[in-house]
Amino acid sequence: MQKICLLGATGSIGSSTLDVIAQYPEQFQLMSVAANTNVDRMAEICQRFKPERAVMGSQQARDALAQRCLGLPTEFEWGHEAMESIASDDCDQVMAAIIGFAGLRPTLAAIRAGKRVLLANKESLVTAGRLFMDEVARYNVTLMPIDSEHNAIFQCLPQTDAGVSKQDVSSILLTASGGPFRTFSARQMASVTPAQACAHPNWSMGQKISVDSASLMNKGLELIEACWLFDVTPANVQVVVHPESIIHSMVSYKDGSVIAQMGNPDMKIPIAYGMTWPTRIDTGVEPLDFYRLAQLNFEAPDLQRFPNLRLAGDAWYAGGTAMAILNAANEVAVDAFLKEKISFLDIARLNERVLEQSDTKVVNDLEAVFIADHEARVLANQLIASEFV
Ligand code: NAD
Ligand code: MG
Repeated sequence: MQKICLLGATGSIGSSTLDVIAQYPEQFQLMSVAANTNVDRMAEICQRFKPERAVMGSQQARDALAQRCLGLPTEFEWGHEAMESIASDDCDQVMAAIIGFAGLRPTLAAIRAGKRVLLANKESLVTAGRLFMDEVARYNVTLMPIDSEHNAIFQCLPQTDAGVSKQDVSSILLTASGGPFRTFSARQMASVTPAQACAHPNWSMGQKISVDSASLMNKGLELIEACWLFDVTPANVQVVVHPESIIHSMVSYKDGSVIAQMGNPDMKIPIAYGMTWPTRIDTGVEPLDFYRLAQLNFEAPDLQRFPNLRLAGDAWYAGGTAMAILNAANEVAVDAFLKEKISFLDIARLNERVLEQSDTKVVNDLEAVFIADHEARVLANQLIASEFV
């Protein structure tokens, strides 16, 4: 029996994780859950799974949840200390599926408690980078990538008892769907709405990552994520646009072989793989029907129309706090776009301005990352208020 702590339980990854847990009640037990504000969904989860502890983002949300769940054995709590506490409490695996930088502290708490970490929250790795990976090594933690591309790369790399190696690997091919605006001109993209940006052609996801997919910032974050996870640089990673999202990424070997991981686009596959590695379970996802698939297409990404991907590579090479700065600017920009305060093209413009106007510092401790995140948010909000465009 594996005991699971689920951070970000009310989100898209949270729901897929609960589906896997519900399918295998003799193998997985939901010990604890965390979410920000969605009391209705959290009440359903608590009633169904009866976790020992449930944590909300605010006292108000906690009180509302406790009121909705009278009679349950669950302990109801709130705030980031409680989230860090459940991530290091009695459990074997922690699913890190909070969205954004807010996921960093609890994910680090899980690492420091030696849990198996199922990493969906890419922003925590992107922002804390070297520090994050150093803690993984220090606490000898099994870090399972849940992002479908990184999970695919993990599956395509040579496997060892400890994880994966890079023996005889020449490069990583990171696939990208290209998002809903893949074929749009810059002019067409200038007037797209949040609803259009959130309507992803292949994946059903939370709003923030959907906008990131549309702006290719998601691929930029994933480029950095791949560099940290697999100890490579952007020069070793080629982004390949593949609109069908059937190949989830590939590894190219020095003898000319390319190994790809394929499957229908359903996050239950990487989630279940992360939870059961090195074995596999039936996820209920339909296998691929190659007669129906018929065609897979590939193209190069267009960095002119999608500058975020270039900015991510720049931030990696700038090093230090640059990745935390870019991530923070992007979180502010996406939020402003969703609230219709800035246009879609302003997202990349704002990201570029904030990167240009911030000093990149060396990261010696976590404090440096939090300061960089905070200062970049302040600057991004000032630029939006002054109509920076
Ligand atoms: P979502 O918006 O659907 O859900 C986010 C979850 O985080 C919710 O449960 C919310 O309550 C919680 N949350 C938000 N702010 C919080 C805070 N301050 N404190 C505590 N909890 C907070 O997001 P999602 O699509 O499930 O994505 C989650 C993470 O997984 C992201 O980092 C995303 O990049 C990554 N990811 C998602 C997918 C996908 O298919 N959705 C695929 C790959 C990677
Ligand atoms: Mg992904």
